[in-house]
Amino acid sequence: MRKRKQPGATFADLVKEPTWSQSDASRSGQHAPRPGRFNGAGEFFDLSGSQLELVVGNVPAEEAQRLLEAGAALVSESCGCGGSYGDCTPVWATDKQLHELRSGPPPQLTDRHSAPTWLDAWAGERGSVVFAHGDISWGNVLD
Ligand SMILES: [Zn+2]
Repeated sequence: MRKRKQPGATFADLVKEPTWSQSDASRSGQHAPRPGRFNGAGEFFDLSGSQLELVVGNVPAEEAQRLLEAGAALVSESCGCGGSYGDCTPVWATDKQLHELRSGPPPQLTDRHSAPTWLDAWAGERGSVVFAHGDISWGNVLD
């Protein structure tokens, strides 16, 4: 791999650049980033538009609390679809809400509306994200 950018860099070289995810050519159509949501290709993005990868598919409540206390962001969707179905819109906790949750009790899986309910963990270049699906009660933020 070349150490310096060359004027004659090939397309393959360009895709290795960190700006790749911002490039129009690579990120159009169903792969277009949708900040805070899933795109048509099933890729998930944080609010800044950075792509997130699923790290753990099922996180215990205590572990989710620990992740939040370690600085993770929180996003939720209450219908239990996973976040990408129809017009489901994942909701991101504000900094103020996160601050509140970090000093509170861990989330509870309530089964109140019989929705599919679980917690999973995602990560991107800005850190990790806890995703709460379905019937989850968490402090004063999720109920
Ligand atoms: Zn949903």
